[in-house]
Amino acid sequence: MSATIPREHEPTALDDGVTASTGAARGVARREPVLEIDHFSVDYGVGENMVRAVSDVTLRLERSRVLGIAGESGSGKSTLVYAMTRLLRSPGLISGGEVTLHVTDEAGTVTPVNLVSATESELRKVRWSHVSIVLQSALSALNPVLRIGREFDEVLKTHRRHLTKAQRRARAVELLRMVGLNEDRLDRYPHELSGGQRQRVMIAVALALDPELVIMDEPTTALDVVTQREIISELGALRAQFGFAMIFITHDLSLLVELADEIAVMYAGSIVERAGARELYEAPRHPYTLGLLHSFPPLHGERRELTGIPGTPPDLADPPTGCSFAPRCAFAMDRCANDKPSLVEVGDTGRSVACWLFDDASGSRVPVALSRVPSRAATTKGET
Ligand code: ATP
Ligand code: SF4
Repeated sequence: MSATIPREHEPTALDDGVTASTGAARGVARREPVLEIDHFSVDYGVGENMVRAVSDVTLRLERSRVLGIAGESGSGKSTLVYAMTRLLRSPGLISGGEVTLHVTDEAGTVTPVNLVSATESELRKVRWSHVSIVLQSALSALNPVLRIGREFDEVLKTHRRHLTKAQRRARAVELLRMVGLNEDRLDRYPHELSGGQRQRVMIAVALALDPELVIMDEPTTALDVVTQREIISELGALRAQFGFAMIFITHDLSLLVELADEIAVMYAGSIVERAGARELYEAPRHPYTLGLLHSFPPLHGERRELTGIPGTPPDLADPPTGCSFAPRCAFAMDRCANDKPSLVEVGDTGRSVACWLFDDASGSRVPVALSRVPSRAATTKGET
């Protein structure tokens, strides 16, 4: 994907030794994982009042790849990324599972770091340098009383102590240019920038230390559609240039098709479908994915009818017994009310779905709406 936004400056490489290294320079092997999440669960509260916001999530992200996580509000997307980076506040609590970040040092040695059991001092070493997060609202993330330049300066001063003031300034200018902003923004306060410019600043700060993984939690939600598109395009270009892996969270599935290699769809705290971005977009398998795709207009291509998803997500304090999507699902069968489907691989495409429609033993017939590409279930049972 190439950047299409008009930049105020083209990026330039500095010779101060802090220019971001590319994925190739880091010796990125595409199939190496940068992050592994294994049976990870997160609760709010304990005992009778406990809410399981993330339930048994397993995900793997390879270096330089983009994983999109989509789902309605309340599906557990933010809880997942806050908990796995240990930024979750009380009453949030990790109740099970492991998260491993594979950290590469300057000599190119890769060391696994268990983020769940890491101490605060170990976490400080990996945050910013190896994993950084861009939050939903740059307004709340940027300090309103500090000029933009100070945001860069603080991060660089803390983590790159050998840099002089002039070098830190030069690096900040380079980072701003990377996201299409002029040097003069360094002397402005956040309120003097537009929403899109503030969000670009946050992205530039997140890239300051050349992290291996960047997590974006709905970074474009508050922006107009044109700016959203520009930033998505810009992020794709930066990823291609610098080779970082990315987790991009959004409720708008159509945005992810522009940016992600793979998409995981979350509903009521669980992953209900995971597939390559294009495959998932063109042939959704889970009825919830189908509903999400009919909830937002596509950025490109054919228009489709926007029907949304009837009903509301379940109350996680009192979740349904069977499939949590059953009360809203047009394809629900008898067993859906009682048995919870697990995430299983469907066919040999690397796609996983948690839905009884794709279970050979259920005797279900896959509805035409979900069968635009052949699957094991569809080919063995035929379509309705
Ligand atoms: P959004 O897009 O609105 O941020 P999300 O998909 O990121 O939604 P989360 O914010 O992770 O979802 O919330 C997941 C679930 O956890 C929701 O059902 C929410 O009600 C619950 N939850 C979040 N914070 C708390 C809290 N402090 N106490 C109890 N429950 C909480
Ligand atoms: Fe719908 Fe049943 Fe599939 Fe759940 S398991 S999504 S209720 S068909």
